[in-house]
Amino acid sequence: MQYVVGVDLGGTKVATALQDENGKILKRVQYATNQYKTAEEVIEGLVASVNEVRGDYPIVGVGVASPGAVDTENGIILKGTNLPDWVNIPLQEKMEEKLQLPIKIVNDANAAAWGEYYVGAGKGSKTMVYVTISTGIGAGIVLNHKLFIGNNGYAGELGHTVIEQDGELCGCGEKGCWEAYASGTSMARIANEAAKKESTIMTKLASDEGVSMNAKHLFAAARLNDEVACRVVDEVTDSIAVGLKNIIHTFNPDCIVIGGGVSLAGEALFEPVIEKTRKIVLAPYRDTFTIVPAQLGDDVGIVGAATLLTGEQA
Ligand code: ADP
Ligand code: ZN
Repeated sequence: MQYVVGVDLGGTKVATALQDENGKILKRVQYATNQYKTAEEVIEGLVASVNEVRGDYPIVGVGVASPGAVDTENGIILKGTNLPDWVNIPLQEKMEEKLQLPIKIVNDANAAAWGEYYVGAGKGSKTMVYVTISTGIGAGIVLNHKLFIGNNGYAGELGHTVIEQDGELCGCGEKGCWEAYASGTSMARIANEAAKKESTIMTKLASDEGVSMNAKHLFAAARLNDEVACRVVDEVTDSIAVGLKNIIHTFNPDCIVIGGGVSLAGEALFEPVIEKTRKIVLAPYRDTFTIVPAQLGDDVGIVGAATLLTGEQA
């Protein structure tokens, strides 16, 4: 059995775990990201957390998942989105120097895709696309059993593929991106617009919780057959299906795994999305794929990054 450490460098927390080669977590620690003030402090913190979980295990290396642009080949974080002064950081070299172990740095969506493919919901598939529907939409692609990261490691920004020319303004500054219609944030926007015009139980579900209305309330209300919520769910699941159709026509995957906070909506999301996607793809694709919920939950980043070192990819 081989052992490896995975690190997920998130915006709110840095999670580190000792795992076996099957992605089973043996020891896990996490620290708040905002306690680190400089890049040097983050690196010191990462090294300390790796030493904390590894104990006396003979680990083969450390996999690190990071949001933003990552140059995997050279082990450099080009532009993190989550940490102070986190630009052009030669993280691989710095960590290798301090730990004397092989280090691999990957984009977090790519790590997640590999984790779900290797030990999660995509296990046994050949070509798998992982889509995370959360604040935005991210994705990672496994082609013929290999993680596909593109020439520069940027492949998979499927949330910013365009589904409507000159459409809704996206957080990226452009218009009509998939995530401007189908992310959790966009679902909340559409639900709020609908709730301004018509009465809906979504308003009460949100105020009972004392928070502003979000995708969770939308799906909860749809489950209660709230008419407005059902209509919005119909609209946003149409948008998800359009994006999945583009993915299916591009990659011909046998499996699409959907993760991220919005996937927790469960059947209320998956049932219409699967049905609509099957209906709108070209006939030859119709029975070539499955669409399934992610299995690794919050640990997807750490497990994915770690299994990249022990898996076939290594
Ligand atoms: P992040 O984008 O920070 O990675 P998450 O993956 O948790 O965060 O996704 C957050 C999104 O998921 C929010 O839009 C939230 O409303 C939505 N969400 C969380 N739980 C549910 C749920 N049970 N059903 C539908 N949407 C949910
Ligand atoms: Zn965009």
